[in-house]
Amino acid sequence: MRKYDDSYRHKGLRKRLISNLREKGITDEKVLAAIDTIPRHFFLDTAFDEIAYEDRAFPILQQQTISQPYTVAYQTQLLEIKPFDKVLEIGTGSGYQTCVLAELGAQVFTVERQKPLYEALRKFPYTNKYPGIKYFYGDGFDGLPTYAPFDKIIITAAAPYIPEKLIVQMRPGAKMVIPVGEGDVQQMFRIIKLQDGSTTQETFNNFSFVKMLGGKNKF
Ligand code: SAH
Repeated sequence: MRKYDDSYRHKGLRKRLISNLREKGITDEKVLAAIDTIPRHFFLDTAFDEIAYEDRAFPILQQQTISQPYTVAYQTQLLEIKPFDKVLEIGTGSGYQTCVLAELGAQVFTVERQKPLYEALRKFPYTNKYPGIKYFYGDGFDGLPTYAPFDKIIITAAAPYIPEKLIVQMRPGAKMVIPVGEGDVQQMFRIIKLQDGSTTQETFNNFSFVKMLGGKNKF
């Protein structure tokens, strides 16, 4: 059984990461505080212990990645999370972004299409800290109609287009943050659903995510 130790050294490295994120333009103090609280190295293989607080993505299981801290901060800042927001996350991956949302007080419904990743998280003791997170194994293109409507939706994989089924699951006033593009680079979109059910969209910086794929993967 792995021992999870958040040492002074790790805490110091996190402080450095926070100033790095500030320099790159992240301004939301609550988002920075959440990142400062969560031991990112717990979400990575111990081989990455020394470099876990560099601002870069790292491999996790199943050829997937834990998002770069800047990307996590950027998407979370755009979502403008408030305590008790009901959030749908597509692409649980390591669960790191999920915990950042939960640390901000959100009630998170997170969906992962790869069974081994979904199962690994069920055995990961740190997530017990956030009983408000609900984990689902499924295809994020379908969302979670049973639990809709949501106040916020975040997609953490490169979407080929904006899935209409997810728009339907937004409450009036809800926000969705989604990287859209079929090539190596995607543009960050923020969709807002208005009271009359119509939507507006804004575009932001470019990022590079792993692909959002349809269907589920058992192995
Ligand atoms: N936020 C995660 C990012 C993981 S990478 C982290 O920081 O760890 C993106 C994840 O999206 C991968 O785990 C991938 O398996 C998952 N994914 C891709 N397409 C999906 C879909 N249609 N439904 C649910 N998850 C999906």
